[in-house]
Amino acid sequence: MIFLGRFLTNRVIRPAVEKCLYGRAIRPLEAILRERETWEPAYLRQWQVSQLRPFLQHCYDNVPFYRRRFDEVGFRPSKFEDLSQLAAIPPLTKADIRAHADDLFARGFGPRGLRVGRTGGSTGEPTLFYQSNEETAWARATVRRFWGMAGIVQGDRRVCLGGRNYTPTWRTRVYPNYFKMVENYYTFPSAFLSTAILDDYIRQIQRLRPRALGGYPSSVSLLAARLIETAQRIPSVEVVWGSSEVMTDLHRARIRQGFGVEPFDAYGGGDTPVATECQVHQGLHLFQSSRLIEVADEQGNTVGPGGSGRVLVTTFYNWAWPYVRYDMGDVVERGTFGDCPCGCRLERIAQVQGRTGDYLVTPDGRFATPPNLTLVFVSIADKVRAFQAVQHDRSEMEMRVVVTPEWSKETEAYVIRSLRSFLGDEIRIHVRLVDDVEITPVGKRRVMVSTVPDGLFVPTSTPAPK
Ligand SMILES: [Zn+2]
Repeated sequence: MIFLGRFLTNRVIRPAVEKCLYGRAIRPLEAILRERETWEPAYLRQWQVSQLRPFLQHCYDNVPFYRRRFDEVGFRPSKFEDLSQLAAIPPLTKADIRAHADDLFARGFGPRGLRVGRTGGSTGEPTLFYQSNEETAWARATVRRFWGMAGIVQGDRRVCLGGRNYTPTWRTRVYPNYFKMVENYYTFPSAFLSTAILDDYIRQIQRLRPRALGGYPSSVSLLAARLIETAQRIPSVEVVWGSSEVMTDLHRARIRQGFGVEPFDAYGGGDTPVATECQVHQGLHLFQSSRLIEVADEQGNTVGPGGSGRVLVTTFYNWAWPYVRYDMGDVVERGTFGDCPCGCRLERIAQVQGRTGDYLVTPDGRFATPPNLTLVFVSIADKVRAFQAVQHDRSEMEMRVVVTPEWSKETEAYVIRSLRSFLGDEIRIHVRLVDDVEITPVGKRRVMVSTVPDGLFVPTSTPAPK
């Protein structure tokens, strides 16, 4: 498939498609976000308050869930003047969303006409949410800022090691071709990888000569480990990024050595970009420019520099199905940072905690990474509260599932069928219904827990990037 060319796609095709999908072009929003990144932090906070006041008033007036919640704790949007007042509002949890999904629509809105987003898969608690076109447009613009901060220009050839969709729609069938032709963006499925598949991908990617390569850190780091083992390079790659999963020290070390560059970590799903690493590679800038992101302790109060807390996100633009202090389920470290030399004034977090680089290995040498397991469960979010794969022996794995009353024999068959599609037939799969899954010391569920070594290259030192 041929990339249609930078000028044609940037100036004609992409804006037209965006108008169609979101009702507006994204490029102007991106410019607005770039400008907000230069604002004084105090001014930015004041601006956030001015965005939130009418938004919270709307939540109180038009969204049954928030009317009840604000009344319960005595929160009055009309008296809202300082971000610290938000501590009174309990975070919106994934359990809240599951229990009150219908009450979260604003008056006059329903699922029709809204985009369905899926989140929480990374914590093993799949959850559905809804996005207006307005919110989606700003989220897309925020993702563009991630590309910008990583030094990628629209039209640069990118290769992504991505997941596969277990419930394909016309969109998921059309998008890969659209992305190739218009975005110069090629996806290589990473539902399962083996040394043979990795070798094949390396050959294909060497021919494609992308400027940037990324995807799930667990998949990208496997590719990097294979590059190191076979003493190969992909010299065209100048930028490596990771998203949708925590980038661990092992991922980073393998990528650094395999590609000779420092990777860019992006935190948050494609639907809710939260933070990104810049060229300085010291912490991740929080996208306070298009939403409010709080790092809060168990009491809901904002954590100061150096502390750790849960990530709570409040959108400004999703008036149809608002989320106020949505608990991402992640714990992050605030770190202590001064101004960033990159010029962006958005505050930074040190790192996202709580997940390890575990993945499953099968008797026939496949590696299955956590995001791919997640994709099996996001489409049955109404039937599953939590899930976790556990492996102590290469020949078998246990799929632990906390189910809802909607779970049935058919759901179980779907899960086994989907798992088989990437784990193959040589591994024994046990589905076990449990009351809860193990939670890590930082209060995070792990999608995969494995004690089986992968047998791939493990760096003992971390050489400096070129
Ligand atoms: Zn920076």
